[in-house]
Amino acid sequence: MLFESTRGADNGRTFEEVLLKGLADDGGLYIPSEWPQVDIRKLKTCSSFIDIAKLIVPLFTSSSYKDEEVLTLLENTWHDFDKTDLVGIEKIRDDIFIGELFHGPTAAFKDFGLQLCAAFFNKALEKNNKTAIILGATSGDTGSAAIDACKEYENIKTFMLLPEGNMTNIQRKQMTTVKKENVFVLNIEGTFDDCQDIVKAAFKEKYFLKSNQVLLAINSINWTRIIGQICYYFYLGLKINNLSKKLCYSIPSGNFGNVFACYSAMKLGLPVDRIGVSVNDNDILHRFFSNNIYKKESVSSTLSPSMDITVASNFERLVYDFYLERDAEKCKDFFANFPESSIVLEEEIWQKTSNLFCSTSTGDKETIEVMKKMHQDFNYVIDPHTAVGMCASKLFGGPISSPLVILSTAHPGKFLDSLKKANITSFKKHHVLEKVINKSEYSFSLEANQDQIFNFIKRNNN
Ligand SMILES: *Cc1c(COP(=O)(O)O)cnc(C)c1O
Repeated sequence: MLFESTRGADNGRTFEEVLLKGLADDGGLYIPSEWPQVDIRKLKTCSSFIDIAKLIVPLFTSSSYKDEEVLTLLENTWHDFDKTDLVGIEKIRDDIFIGELFHGPTAAFKDFGLQLCAAFFNKALEKNNKTAIILGATSGDTGSAAIDACKEYENIKTFMLLPEGNMTNIQRKQMTTVKKENVFVLNIEGTFDDCQDIVKAAFKEKYFLKSNQVLLAINSINWTRIIGQICYYFYLGLKINNLSKKLCYSIPSGNFGNVFACYSAMKLGLPVDRIGVSVNDNDILHRFFSNNIYKKESVSSTLSPSMDITVASNFERLVYDFYLERDAEKCKDFFANFPESSIVLEEEIWQKTSNLFCSTSTGDKETIEVMKKMHQDFNYVIDPHTAVGMCASKLFGGPISSPLVILSTAHPGKFLDSLKKANITSFKKHHVLEKVINKSEYSFSLEANQDQIFNFIKRNNN
C-alpha cells in the first residue's frame, strides 16, 4: 500500500517518504491510496494495546519495512505511561464512557502519535545513516510530547519555538525543565503564527543543516501520528463492547487529527455510529459542519489552549476522502485557494455530513460549568478540553442511539487555573506533572527573527 496526496500531483509514496516529508510536494496531505482492512476476528483475540497496535501499524508500513521489524519496534515504542495498557476507561453511566488518553509522560493524548513518530524517525535515520533536526512551534501540548518522544534518540536534536501566549505554567515547564544536550527550548518574542512562519521558512533555507542531516516536521499532519491514534480507537471499541455494536465518539478538536484518526479507524473496520466534533470558541469546524462554510477567522484565547486554532490542518483529508470521494482536482481548487477563498461545498455533497458527523462549540463559561457538574454529580475531575467534549448532550440532541465515548485528551493537573475557577481543590495527581513543578527551567530567549533563530540552530548543531 502506497500513499497519495490530496491534491493529486504527488502520488506513489512509501511509508518512509511520507514519514520524513510531512507535507506533500504539491502542498497537499498524504493519505493511504486505499484503506487497508483490519482483520476484526483476529483483533477480537487481542488483549493489550500493544497487541492491537501490532495488527494495525504494519498495515501502513509494508512499503518500507518488514513486518517483523515493525513488530519489534512496537515492543519498545510507547513508554512512561502510568497505565499498563496505556488507555484508561471510566464508566460514567451504562451508556457513557470516558476514554482517558492522558496517562502518558506529558499528560495529553499527543504521546500516542508522537512516540510512534519518534520511534520510526529513529529507525529511518539509522537505516539511512543520517541524523535529524526537528524544528517545531507549539502553543501547548505538541511541544512537550515531541520533546519527550525524541529526547532519548541521540540522532535527533529538537528545537522547539514557544510563542508568547496562552500556555499554562505547567505546560511550559514540561518543556523547559527537560535538561538534555539534544533539546533546545526557545522562548520567542512573537505569536504562534510568527513561529509557524519561521518553521515554514526553515524548510526552504536549511543552511544550518550538516551534510547527512535532515530537517523533520512533527506537526499534526504527519500521517504516522494518525496511525498511533487509530490504535486507541480500536482499543476502546474492543474493551467497551468487544466491537459488537457501533459507538458514538465525542472528540475535543483543534487541528482535526484526532477526529481524522477516528474516521480512519472506521474506514479500517471499526464500528462507528456518529462522530461528534467538539470545539471551543475557535469554531471553524463547527461553522462548517453546521452551516457548510469553512472560513478562517481570528484566533480567540480560551481555557482550552490546545484547541485555539484558526484552521484545522487535517480537515483537507476529510474533504478529499469523505466529501469529494477522492476527486483531487476539486480538492486542489478548494485548498490551493484557501484561506483567501472560503470553502463551501455543493449542497448535495455537504448533506452527507449528517450521516456521520455532528458538531458543537462551547465557550469558557460553559466549560467551567461542565467541569463543576462532572465533579459534583460523578466525583470525576476533567480538564477544560475534555469538558468541551462533554457537551455531548448538545451534540447529539436527546437520547443517543449508541453508547457514547468521550475522549479525555489531557489530564486536569495541567490546568490548575481552570480547576480553581471550577472550585475543584483535589484531584488524582499525574505521575509526571508533580515532579515538573519544582524543577529548574532551561530555555533561551530570542526575537521572532528568522536569521537569529537559524544561526542559533547552526551554533548549537555540532
Ligand atoms: C492537541 C489537543 C487537542 C486537539 O487535537 P487535534 O487532533 O488537533 O484536533 C485537544 N485536546 C488536547 C488536550 C490537545 O493537546
